[in-house]
Amino acid sequence: MKKAVVAGSGIAGLASAIRLRNKGYSVLVLEKNAYPGGKLTQLSGNGYRFDAGPSLFTMPNLVTELFEISGKNPKDYFDYDQLDVLCNYFYEDGTRISAYKEIDRFAEEIDRNTKDSAEKVKKHLNKSKFIYRATEEQFLNRSLHKVRSFLSFSTVVSILKLPFLNIFRTMNQVNEKMFADSKTIRLFNRYATYNGSNPYKAPGILNIIPHLEFGLGAYLPKNGMHQITNSLVQLATDIGVEFRFDEEVISIETEGNKAKSVRTKAGNYEGDIVVCNADIHTVYEKLIPSAKKLAQVDKQERSSSALILYWGIGKEFPELDVHNILFTEDYKTEFDHLFESKTITQDPTIYINITSKKLKEDAPEGKENWFVMINVPSVYGQDWDTMIAEARKHILSKLSRNLGTDIEPLIEFEEQLTPQLIQDKTNSYKGSLYGTSSNNRFAAFFRHKNFSSEFKNLYFCGGSVHPGGGIPLALSSAKIIDKLIK
Ligand SMILES: Cc1cc2nc3c(=O)[nH]c(=O)nc-3n(C[C@H](O)[C@H](O)[C@H](O)COP(=O)(O)OP(=O)(O)OC[C@H]3O[C@@H](n4cnc5c(N)ncnc54)[C@H](O)[C@@H]3O)c2cc1C
Repeated sequence: MKKAVVAGSGIAGLASAIRLRNKGYSVLVLEKNAYPGGKLTQLSGNGYRFDAGPSLFTMPNLVTELFEISGKNPKDYFDYDQLDVLCNYFYEDGTRISAYKEIDRFAEEIDRNTKDSAEKVKKHLNKSKFIYRATEEQFLNRSLHKVRSFLSFSTVVSILKLPFLNIFRTMNQVNEKMFADSKTIRLFNRYATYNGSNPYKAPGILNIIPHLEFGLGAYLPKNGMHQITNSLVQLATDIGVEFRFDEEVISIETEGNKAKSVRTKAGNYEGDIVVCNADIHTVYEKLIPSAKKLAQVDKQERSSSALILYWGIGKEFPELDVHNILFTEDYKTEFDHLFESKTITQDPTIYINITSKKLKEDAPEGKENWFVMINVPSVYGQDWDTMIAEARKHILSKLSRNLGTDIEPLIEFEEQLTPQLIQDKTNSYKGSLYGTSSNNRFAAFFRHKNFSSEFKNLYFCGGSVHPGGGIPLALSSAKIIDKLIK
């Protein structure tokens, strides 16, 4: 049996391992941590459970198809519910908007609470769907770096549609042209943060993202996001994938134009195929050192990072739902801090995820598990201790102001995840959440390809390579590799 070695057990590494096993390879996954899942992990304490990383789950079909191609019933491993409310939005003037999964209902909310009409919202979401349909096949499902990807009817159709995809204007320019009210503009600009980008720089084509929520739905696995990792590890184990934890890959040994083996402190593992799930910067810095490739990879701006405060809160807040956003009044300044001065604004937009709204076992009765996150810059040698202490104060005061309750005395459990910890835990360069940002219109083409042109049996998957970061795209990268390996 031919051998495949996968370096890293993030969501993309797990999906690649399952796909390679289904292709008939014997598969070994080497993971530096003692646990699988990379960013998609969990933590608990004091009776609270938290998903540590991703909280928004879209396109569950990309997970369930891994069970289906393995001849298993997904429901035996993994189940999820669709959310009726995608997000509750809070503004400093007291306006509250609920984004219902039904577009008509959401459009009415906007109509009632802002200067913008329901018609405009529906038009915007229709455009989002149009962009999705025009680009899905070409940009999300295939390698952008193989000539054959461009020799198809769907490519010709995509190219003809290019002038209508808003690549020559920024997301903010498109949204400002469509909407009159800063509340609506902020709501739609925020979708740029779904891949760690800046709406004032990223192209308008990123207006594809609302369609993922409004058109395809937002979901929550029945045992939390971490169930995605657990169920895929179970599936992989059931079909014969072997895992070795606490084994960091220190180099990929090559011979001629082939990757020959993968070396850890414990051993040297030969492979006919090698798949790297580690951040592409780490690959060229440490695993197959190449100053030239590293310089090319690092030319692209990194995505933003995050500060997360995991708080066990000794009270229930009926006005909050699973996903909640408390907006800054000055969104432009927030992004200038994130991407220009690499600091944190005094009035950051705050995201709160509360899985205990749906999963009662995630918090003691009458209490809630708050995952409180703000976007922060990636790591550029800042004084993080001071910045985080300041940010925590600003977060507390904004939450207390908007919710009309002093929050600090309610915190009975706290842990933090910082950009440096994200970097240390998952080898994500500069602690960025989504690899490189989409802050220029050619970003999709500059992201690293899913294969090596130097070593013909070496492949790359995960959020730092094509098609990009976030669970759905990381899963797509594994699917693209599956198609590339004959
Ligand atoms: C706080 C946070 C919130 C997020 N929110 C969302 C969200 O709501 N929705 C969404 O879709 N996405 C979200 N994301 C992004 C999403 O988590 C990632 O895009 C996705 O999980 C990336 O998966 P991956 O497989 O590429 O990499 P990772 O999860 O980074 O996994 C890489 C794995 O490789 C291992 N590794 C690295 N180097 C080596 C080595 N040398 N040897 C062995 N193993 C190695 C790491 O330890 C890790 O386990 C969020 C991320 C974070 C951190």
